[in-house]
Amino acid sequence: MVHKYDAIIIGAGGTGLMAALYASRGVRVAVLTKMYPTRSHTGTAQGGIGAALGNHEEDRPEWHTFDTIKGSDYLADQDAARIMCYEAVDVVYELEHMGLPFNRTEEGKIAQRPFGGHTNNETRQPVRRACYAADRTGHMILQTLYQQCIKQHVTFFNEFQVLDLIVEDGLARGVVALEITTGELHVFHAKAVLFATGGWGKVWQITSNAHSLTGDGPAVALRRGIPLEDMEFFQFHPTGIYKMGILITEGVRGEGGVLINNEGERFMERYAPTIKDLASRDITSRAIYLEVREGRGIDGKDYVYLDVRPETANKYFDLDGKRNPDGTPRRITAADIRAKLPDIADFTRTYLGIDPVTQPMPVQPTAHYAMGGIPTDIHGRVVMDEENTVLSGFYAAGETACVSVHGANRLGTNSLVDILVFGRRSGIDMMRYCQEADFTPLPDEPEAFAREQVESLRARPEGGERVADIRSQMQRVMMDHVAVFREQPGIQEALDVLSDLQERYQRISIDDKGSQYNTDLLEAWELGALLDIAQVTAAAALNRTESRGAHSREDCPKRDDAEWLKHSLAYRAAGRIELRYKPVTIVDYPPKERVY
Ligand SMILES: Cc1cc2nc3c(=O)[nH]c(=O)nc-3n(C[C@H](O)[C@H](O)[C@H](O)COP(=O)(O)OP(=O)(O)OC[C@H]3O[C@@H](n4cnc5c(N)ncnc54)[C@H](O)[C@@H]3O)c2cc1C
Repeated sequence: MVHKYDAIIIGAGGTGLMAALYASRGVRVAVLTKMYPTRSHTGTAQGGIGAALGNHEEDRPEWHTFDTIKGSDYLADQDAARIMCYEAVDVVYELEHMGLPFNRTEEGKIAQRPFGGHTNNETRQPVRRACYAADRTGHMILQTLYQQCIKQHVTFFNEFQVLDLIVEDGLARGVVALEITTGELHVFHAKAVLFATGGWGKVWQITSNAHSLTGDGPAVALRRGIPLEDMEFFQFHPTGIYKMGILITEGVRGEGGVLINNEGERFMERYAPTIKDLASRDITSRAIYLEVREGRGIDGKDYVYLDVRPETANKYFDLDGKRNPDGTPRRITAADIRAKLPDIADFTRTYLGIDPVTQPMPVQPTAHYAMGGIPTDIHGRVVMDEENTVLSGFYAAGETACVSVHGANRLGTNSLVDILVFGRRSGIDMMRYCQEADFTPLPDEPEAFAREQVESLRARPEGGERVADIRSQMQRVMMDHVAVFREQPGIQEALDVLSDLQERYQRISIDDKGSQYNTDLLEAWELGALLDIAQVTAAAALNRTESRGAHSREDCPKRDDAEWLKHSLAYRAAGRIELRYKPVTIVDYPPKERVY
């Protein structure tokens, strides 16, 4: 079946919905999503969205820009970071006007809380910049945007999984998707296509990411000759629930929580003397690993405590000399914690049997966020090479894309800003492009490549390799060797294991040969995407012989600006990965050493 729309948007998270709202003001738009829109991962975002509103104390978009660039370990493109931080303010007010129920200050303004790496650039102290709706900020964003899309009659194709991008002669012309309920393949013919397919935390064993985050978009792009940028940079969030990876938001530390080792020490004082527990995530995750390695994990195990019990939080507030804006000492009560972090209290009770108001929470770093992805310019247009040549009609935005605003390490609250600002910019540019461009003809048999992939998985003989085995071996080797710390022999071992797994993947068999709701088949296809992404990540990590942001090489511990102040571009041709590099855009902030 062939459908025809001016613009096709893949993904119904915050990025896809924001783009759809804007593009549908001028052209015919359809959104395809493999899940129901409101189940997208954006809905799990807890802590907040950063914008320099200055509702509690002085703040400026310029400070937000500098913090973002410093947090990125100077790999962010500074023009893009500036656009994001200035447009953040407007985007938050736009959400407010759409009806998003933000928490409020006593005067009725949007309430804000501190988050890692966000500072007053003059005093270097944490500044309250994260706007939040309790610890359900993403849920509220997703619901609000979805309501607006319904109001605007945006067309949704729910439970349609995209398997291929139709691209010919340097022009994107549509996508091929499998309708999950029937197993039928559909062709969507379009003038412009946006990938807003989210991240790929499922490459690792311990992750905060949902099961659906399997990197489909970037894998499809890679198979069509499009490079992936800065894939060696993947963020580990410091505080996942021990062994499960479920996220405990940085908002807990924003509300006064501290990290404690087996000796009862608040160890972040040693690693980041000024900003302490609110240092950026790469630094905090490494600190936890080092504490564990030196035998100071709780009971000698590989976790530490995150402690937000009022007596602990108030003790450290006093020691830090923190005050309310009116000069009175800040006091945290059990009621505050229950009101501002209700979902966290719920998670820890459900998964650990722990009440965070009376007990500390066992945490360890968890694979969380992809800084890299499909390379784009500041309008969301996909760019193909070192010269930033645009691939006409193809757009990417949100976690799946790399603009790059996060460089080597993203600050907390900056993804929600990124998805809304660049979702909006892509929507606007797609509308312009579709109004100017004509439809170009589809190639013969546009669904051939997708059909071949699906049929070959279905046709495998029984008794072959198991999807679950290959997936768990990939996740383990990536966790062991391409995670918070890396070094050459380990990364090489990961690459060897991955190429062996790729071979075994050719021999997998699936049990369900049917058409309707064949999740067995789709999981097998998704494993193919994960393996491709894991290989690119490890190859880019092996090549980069320096430490920067989330990429920490124990055998090359220093940042090396002379050699490595550049973005990587990974291409795949004939099963081999080729790495090329392009310069970082530096505007106002020449690279400096990061001190927190
Ligand atoms: C637990 C958690 C908490 C977080 N908290 C915060 C926070 O407080 N602040 C912050 O700034 N960031 C936070 N983040 C990060 C942030 O939420 C995400 O980076 C962001 O929401 C990603 O949005 P997105 O629109 O790009 O993708 P997603 O919301 O992940 O949506 C992806 C969409 O793509 C669709 N899709 C994927 N593949 C296909 C396919 N093959 N075919 C069709 N559709 C497909 C899915 O159905 C889905 O609709 C958090 C992340 C997690 C995991």
